[in-house]
Amino acid sequence: MAETEKAQLNETEPVCRNFIEQIIEKDLAEGIYDTVHTRFPPEPNGYLHIGHAKSILLNYGLAQKYHGKFNMRFDDTNPTKEKSEFVESIQNDIRWLGADWEDRLFFASNYFGEMYECAVKLIKKGKAYVSDLSADEIREYRGTLTEAGREDPGSRRSVEENLMLFENMKKGLYADGSKVLRARIDMASPNMNMRDPVIYRVAHMTHHNTGDAWCIYPMYDFAHPIEDAIEGITHSICTLEFEDHRPLYDWVVRELEYPHPPKQIEFAKLYLKNVVTGKRYIKKLVEDGIVDGWDDPRLVSIAALRRRGFTPESIQRFVELCGVSKANSIAEYPALEYCIREDLKMKRPRMMAVLDPVKLIIDNYPEGKTELLEVANNLENEALGTRTVPFGKELYIERDDFMEEPPRKYFRMFPGNEVRLMHAYFVTCTGCVKDENGAIVEVHCTYDPETKCGSGFTGRKVKGTIHWVPARESVKAQVRLYENIIDEEKGVYNEDGSLNLNPDSLKVLYDCRLEPALQEAKPEERFQFVRQGFFCVDYKDSREGAPVFNRIVSLKSSYVLPKQEEKK
Ligand code: ATP
Ligand code: MG
Repeated sequence: MAETEKAQLNETEPVCRNFIEQIIEKDLAEGIYDTVHTRFPPEPNGYLHIGHAKSILLNYGLAQKYHGKFNMRFDDTNPTKEKSEFVESIQNDIRWLGADWEDRLFFASNYFGEMYECAVKLIKKGKAYVSDLSADEIREYRGTLTEAGREDPGSRRSVEENLMLFENMKKGLYADGSKVLRARIDMASPNMNMRDPVIYRVAHMTHHNTGDAWCIYPMYDFAHPIEDAIEGITHSICTLEFEDHRPLYDWVVRELEYPHPPKQIEFAKLYLKNVVTGKRYIKKLVEDGIVDGWDDPRLVSIAALRRRGFTPESIQRFVELCGVSKANSIAEYPALEYCIREDLKMKRPRMMAVLDPVKLIIDNYPEGKTELLEVANNLENEALGTRTVPFGKELYIERDDFMEEPPRKYFRMFPGNEVRLMHAYFVTCTGCVKDENGAIVEVHCTYDPETKCGSGFTGRKVKGTIHWVPARESVKAQVRLYENIIDEEKGVYNEDGSLNLNPDSLKVLYDCRLEPALQEAKPEERFQFVRQGFFCVDYKDSREGAPVFNRIVSLKSSYVLPKQEEKK
């Protein structure tokens, strides 16, 4: 879309701002900030999931909307869990989602030097001290919600002694856990986070970026505001559980005397009903071999959604539908499915694929004859053009499109009934052939040469239209159908905290038959298979000329969009 068109669209958009936009616009109007600068700060300790997508698109979207900047920052201040593997996957996922940080890629660990200086500054101001208490003692001294905390004996140390001890911490003179640096705030504060929080700890550990350069590491609540301030972030958007940490965030940037301190704003996390996102659970599913890695198409990591066949646009739409608020709420997975259907239905070709094939033989069709039928790729979108599909005497149809003894209202193939073969002819079923076990191996019919699709034939109507593929030219392929990995009837968790798994979450069909054009399908290409759903070529398991298809979503849904969306 051209920029001018976009601008026009924006003018006609209803004036409806979410609460973060309202804060930003007020800040800009009052001159508190003259620009908007946001960031996405993942810890590289796992794969990103649909919830992170919300945070990424929110932060990136705000920077775009207010012509500001967006930083990609790895919050890698904790050496224990972080891995370079995740640094790669996270960047891939964010780029794929469509958020662009240009050249603004940062690592919090590159600020360790400045963070150390910040701690020294606090010590010099009398605002931080070295403590000898153990983690348990610190917890005990902290008091309770109804009881004030007790003074740490370390808090009586002089500035000089604290400077010396802190330097010794840095030099590696102390064992892990034997000394920490605490901020001196208020041991009686009703907010437990303000009761002299630990801001630095000793940890003799190798860091993925800084190696063994440091043996002291800053705590999240101290490091994060400094990272934001160093990068000139204006609005530091995080999730609700950090609301109680905001006074500490503000304390840190105030005491460090940043001239234009960033502001923390919290919003509610995105949760999906009956869906697992917790790293702990996913990790276990991966380790137990229940799923095929973090990108198994049944999961909702960004990599998994991508592998399943979701598009960035569908995820963007979903996140928009969910909105931004301060109240926790739970989104429905079918809403995500709605978004991918809407995205693909006009964009992608509608192909014929038979998932459970049985042979259909047209007895009166000339032996050895092949017609090349020209078929529209998408009847609702002419721009997608046409393709040819070979048609001949022997075809495959879906096994359940034939019934020897049909129930009422069954309009597909049964002896004596006439149906339309999609894009081809009317055929009348004459019967079937069974093997010695009674299984149907062939269905037979005759065709009416006058009824060719596109010939202008209007003689009579039929109630059923079924899809097919040519037997000889069709491509044999593997197709995977998915259900929720969680047994929704029973809920996500068992009493013992383990997951309630659905034993039928993956169904692999090894002998599907596709129309020949699909042989050339490329990894991650998406198609509609008529009557079956939307499918995507699996990028991991497909081979040249032998694609494997994942079903993204079926065509039908009982999901009804919330009112406001219908009006558009
Ligand atoms: P952990 O539990 O390991 O801390 P995390 O999901 O919080 O995991 P981070 O890497 O700290 O992982 O998250 C990066 C950013 O994504 C943070 O700003 C966080 O607030 C945001 N975020 C995480 N989960 C969600 C969610 N479900 N919805 C919206 N934003 C989220
Ligand atoms: Mg986190």
